[in-house]
Amino acid sequence: MEAIILSVGDELVLGQSLDTNSAYLSGQLARLGIGTLYHQTLSDDRRAIAGAITAAAQAAERVIITGGLGPTDDDLTRQALADAMNAPLVQHEPSLDALAAFFAQRRRPMPEKTKVQAMHPQGTQMLTNTCGTAPGIRAKLHRAVIYAIPGVPNEMVAMFEQSIRPEIEAGPVRRAVILTTRINTFGLGESTVAQKLGELMDRPRNPQVGTTTADGIVSVRVRSRFDDPDQAQRELERTVTQIDERLGPIVFGRDEQSLQQSAIALLKQRGLRVATAESCTGGLLGKMLTDVAGSSAVYVGGWVTYTNRLKSEQLGVDQTLVTQYGAVSEPVVRAMAAGAIERSGADLSLAITGIAGPDGGTPEKPVGTVWIALGDAGRVEAYLFHLPGDRHAVRDRAAKTTVQLLRYRLLNAPVDLLYASPTSRQ
Ligand code: AMP
Ligand code: MG
Repeated sequence: MEAIILSVGDELVLGQSLDTNSAYLSGQLARLGIGTLYHQTLSDDRRAIAGAITAAAQAAERVIITGGLGPTDDDLTRQALADAMNAPLVQHEPSLDALAAFFAQRRRPMPEKTKVQAMHPQGTQMLTNTCGTAPGIRAKLHRAVIYAIPGVPNEMVAMFEQSIRPEIEAGPVRRAVILTTRINTFGLGESTVAQKLGELMDRPRNPQVGTTTADGIVSVRVRSRFDDPDQAQRELERTVTQIDERLGPIVFGRDEQSLQQSAIALLKQRGLRVATAESCTGGLLGKMLTDVAGSSAVYVGGWVTYTNRLKSEQLGVDQTLVTQYGAVSEPVVRAMAAGAIERSGADLSLAITGIAGPDGGTPEKPVGTVWIALGDAGRVEAYLFHLPGDRHAVRDRAAKTTVQLLRYRLLNAPVDLLYASPTSRQ
């Protein structure tokens, strides 16, 4: 069984507010074993809504429409549904009584326009609204059962829970189970990840594998659809294992687990404490690490040394290194990491110096040039990156790359991150 979700409202197509209803409904339907064929967002246009209803009712067994059921002239879902069904709008007496009671209870006169909410296309049923005034409508058209429900998110959720979920759960159709998970990676581009996944991403495959990217994090989505819940779970895990094997240490976690959570957990396992020395990221790395509850067990603190003076005063960076090689250079990042280890008493140090832009780039050191070093008492490793994007992106990727390098170090994995020039070690 498949579903189509239609969301209605000028504010949605104008980009003024986000269609969160569709995401909610599709998420809930997936758990009930119903896949969503598509979402469609429509303006408050009667003909457009009626056309979309007709098409959806021919294409899927369940159609859920949210929005446009209110009392005002721009609420046209009710009329559009009647148009699509070629049925007249008729008054539903119990709903009119309920509306009258709603206003009587609040000691307010019922506005004339409100009465339209008690109208519905002939032959359809009303769905009670326990949170607001607009009842929903349940209709049958072509292949589909159609539910038109309010757009206000809490009313939408209440009506889904009270009227739609029970009907689907009681439904005679044997439902498949859909289980999903997300495997999160950082450090390689989406196409490189896709290349490593190879035939796992073939379209007809079940479990289905796809990728999405946001803020440099490439997530691999897995969707397992089987009649038997145990099989769905088994197959999901089998695919996850295959993905883990192919991608290696760039995988840092599943679902909501963040890169820094994963690094902090590894530090705890190894019993190691870390300090930070930041220049161009201005404390972002320390912020990321301390976003994780309980990070105090492994993060001792750090320095934001933006000027050359502070680099030398706070971290003991030799001024002649800065003069000779520049603040964004391998010798300086190494000296920052060494100074942070020496002065913090931590087991490991992380140092960043780079050019975030938009100004400050040169032909030899363009914007995005970032040196990152990891040190411990005996060894400092330094890496050069050329990070793409604007100031925000360069700083964000620099901090994330550093956390990922820390994970690689803790896992003893060879560094294979994107944008990394050949590593230099000493
Ligand atoms: P309506 O039912 O069209 O009168 O919508 C009432 C209010 O619900 C709108 O003003 C929006 O704030 C909100 N709303 C409507 N549709 C959605 C949607 N798809 N996602 C999130 N909020 C919505
Ligand atoms: Mg509306």
